[in-house]
Amino acid sequence: MSKAGPILAICVTGAGAEALIQACRCGETEIGLPVPGLSQGTRVVCYCKDCQTAARLHVEVEDILDSAGGSHIWQTTPDQLTVLKGADQLRILRLSPKGLLRWHAGCCNTPLLNTLPKANLPFVGIVLRQSTLNTAGPVLGRITCHANTGSAIPGQGAPRNDKGFKRAGAAVLKRMVLAWLSGRAKHNDLTNADGTPIAPIDVIPLETRQAAVPAHLR
Ligand SMILES: [Zn+2]
Ligand SMILES: [Zn+2]
Repeated sequence: MSKAGPILAICVTGAGAEALIQACRCGETEIGLPVPGLSQGTRVVCYCKDCQTAARLHVEVEDILDSAGGSHIWQTTPDQLTVLKGADQLRILRLSPKGLLRWHAGCCNTPLLNTLPKANLPFVGIVLRQSTLNTAGPVLGRITCHANTGSAIPGQGAPRNDKGFKRAGAAVLKRMVLAWLSGRAKHNDLTNADGTPIAPIDVIPLETRQAAVPAHLR
């Protein structure tokens, strides 16, 4: 599988503002984030079983997970992002009927972001692929949270214990409250007026999910 499209680049949008563009591999789908946005988000690496399992349902898993099985996420609020291109390509996977909504670009099966089951709650985790970290790192700041390290692939450099988990959680809540109080929460490119997600949801069959669980967590 080739990486045809732009990956993650800083561009100047039509409005003259700088934006970080998160594109899918083929370039059909693009999401824009404002720059700079350091205070508006937290960089997290999550090693949980679900993130590793979900990643293995996509192509190029080595671009999604680091060597220890970590998913690199930038947690922010949905009002920060703009779907610039390919809204009709967006698809949602759920590992179970109650699981997170894991959004990807259907055109080329590239994971893009995660939202809570109630997609209109002001939370989004932007998936930073390994090939985008060099670009994203300087813009989005350093990693301040390592979560669910107990499920990391042993011996691959993940911290022994979780770091920054409570602080990241508190930051999520604070950003949610600020988004509500300011009215920014109403601006959400990922939801319809009634709060439902704009993309179709596909709940993964149990057998498919079980087959995708990485060996060290079976
Ligand atoms: Zn694509
Ligand atoms: Zn996770």
